[in-house]
Amino acid sequence: MSDAPSGTRARILDGIAIARQVEQEVATEVRRIREDVGRVPGLRILLVGDDPPSHVYAGRILRHAERVGVPGSLLELPGHTDVADIRRQLEAASHDPEVGGVIVQMPLPDGISRHDIASALDPVKDIDGIHPWNAGLLAQARESHRPSCAEAAVEILVRSDIPITGARAVVIGRSDVVGKPAALLLLRHGATVTVCHRSTRDLAAEVRGADIVVVAAGSPGLVHGGMVRPGAVVIDCGINVVDGSVVGDVDRASVEPIANAMTVVPGGVGPVTNAVLLRHHVAAVQALLARS
Ligand code: ADP
Repeated sequence: MSDAPSGTRARILDGIAIARQVEQEVATEVRRIREDVGRVPGLRILLVGDDPPSHVYAGRILRHAERVGVPGSLLELPGHTDVADIRRQLEAASHDPEVGGVIVQMPLPDGISRHDIASALDPVKDIDGIHPWNAGLLAQARESHRPSCAEAAVEILVRSDIPITGARAVVIGRSDVVGKPAALLLLRHGATVTVCHRSTRDLAAEVRGADIVVVAAGSPGLVHGGMVRPGAVVIDCGINVVDGSVVGDVDRASVEPIANAMTVVPGGVGPVTNAVLLRHHVAAVQALLARS
C-alpha cells in the first residue's frame, strides 16, 4: 500500500454513496421477486424496552427498507418482557410466511443476553447473523448471514478497491457483533489479522503495523494520528454520543493528514450497515422461497 504523500489528506470513503449502490442492487432484486411471486415477505424489527437511540436506528432501517420496496414492521415489547416471551415472539416470526427477515435491536434490557434468545430464530431469517448457526458458518468461511456492521466495514474496503489480500489488518474490538466477525471476514479475504481488545498490552504498537485498521471499540478518539501508519486505511465502526453529537472511535482531525483513506462518522459504516442488512433480507427471502 502506498504511503500518503506529505501534505495530502486521506480519501474519505463515502458510506452514503456505497450504501446507495448496494440499495440499488437490492431494489432490483426486490422488484424481480415481486414480479416472480407477487409478494415480498417483510422485515420485522423486534425492539425490547425504550432505549431512545434504538428507536432512531429502527426507524432508519424501516425507512431504508421502504425505499427498496421491502415491507417493514416494528414489534415493540416492554422493557420488563422476559426471555421466554422474547423467544416466543422470535419463534412466531420464524413461522410467519409474511416475515422474511428478523432483526433484534440491540441493546436488550439488562440481564438478557443475545445468547438467551438468538437460537429461537430461524437461522435463514436471522439477517443480522446473531444465531450461533450463522456465527459457526462464518467461522468456517462458509456462506451465512454475517453481522451486518462487520460486513459493511469489509464491503467499504472492497467497493473502494482497497487491497485486502496480503494486507496487515488490525481489528480493535472482539465483540460477537462487530470485531470478531470483521476479523473473520478480513481473514477470509486473505488479510493477516490481529485482533486487539481491552487487554491488549500496547495498542498503539499493534495499530502502527497495520495497513488496514478496523475499529469497533465504543471509545471516542481511541484511534488517533499518532498511532496510525502513514498510508493506512482506517474504518471506523464506532457510534458514540458525545455532547449530543454522534462520533466514532477515530479522531478524524489527527488521522486525516496521515491515513491514505478513512471512513467518518456519521456517513461511513452506518449507512452501509443498513444497506447490507437489506441485502441479507433479500437473500433470506430467496432462500425461503426456494425452500417452500
Ligand atoms: P461493539 O458492539 O461496538 O463491538 P462492545 O462494547 O461489545 O462494542 O465491544 C467493545 C470491544 O472493544 C471489546 O472487545 C473491548 O475489548 C474493545 N475495547 C474497548 N475499549 C478498548 C480499548 N481502550 N483498547 C482496546 N480495545 C478496547
